[in-house]
Amino acid sequence: MRGRALLAACLMLVTTAAACGDETAPADSLVARAVGSNKLTIGIRFDQPGLSKRTIDGRYVGFDVDVAKYVASELGVDEDHITWHDSKPSTRETDITSGITDLMVATYSITEKRKQMVAFAGPYFDTGQDLLVRLRSTDITGPENLNGRKLCAVGGTTSAEQVRDKFAQAVQLVEYPRYQDCVTALLAGQVDAVTTDDVILAGYVAQNPELLRVVGKRFSQEKYGVGLRKGDNEGRAAVARAIQKMISSGDWLASLNRNIGPSGYRIPPPPQVTEQ
Ligand code: GLU
Repeated sequence: MRGRALLAACLMLVTTAAACGDETAPADSLVARAVGSNKLTIGIRFDQPGLSKRTIDGRYVGFDVDVAKYVASELGVDEDHITWHDSKPSTRETDITSGITDLMVATYSITEKRKQMVAFAGPYFDTGQDLLVRLRSTDITGPENLNGRKLCAVGGTTSAEQVRDKFAQAVQLVEYPRYQDCVTALLAGQVDAVTTDDVILAGYVAQNPELLRVVGKRFSQEKYGVGLRKGDNEGRAAVARAIQKMISSGDWLASLNRNIGPSGYRIPPPPQVTEQ
């Protein structure tokens, strides 16, 4: 049975039985909304090259965009019926809890703290935090030798939190709402380094290879999950199945090779989908 038809069948059955997995679908579950309205609003970023970017001619491209489209299509919603929402890192939780977005596919690390507010399906990608510096800053080899220097991070991210927890004495943390602001400040010489996940940083290097480089020494582990409303177990299971299928079908790797490969980033093996 095709995905959409299966979902429709499940929806008819959930009124009488826990037919689609071990949990019933609450009326406002992601699955019910997708089938009922044939529409989804998905939170991404509009300014992260390789991961999710709105092009000048209004298209959305990148690995996160592909993951979002794949999941939506498995829920029976084709890409023409997706509304893309530009979610700032610091508003990801409230964009989900307020119902502005149905799903969040925005380099969103699964953390225990966030799990108190939202649910995650995944992970769908393993990465880690690193530093972006100007090509000529050869003396910066890791966060420990940023003493007295300015480090840019984006508010509401695990990257900023990690700097505050571990390196706050040594570095001057500058916080901006978006990565593109940090990169502009770095290029203008207003900060000495930018920190976040290396896969995000690789996208900015690809745009300015003659000016920027990634230091190449990870100092955290990040696992990206798809965020959705807490308590929607049916929705989480459906999204996890879609991620698993994207990985096993080869579409996951093809998307990474197409979107992330050109930056020279080493594509990691697919993660085990544990949040399901
Ligand atoms: N993955 C980290 C987080 O979710 C940092 C990158 C980002 O802003 O998405 O906070």
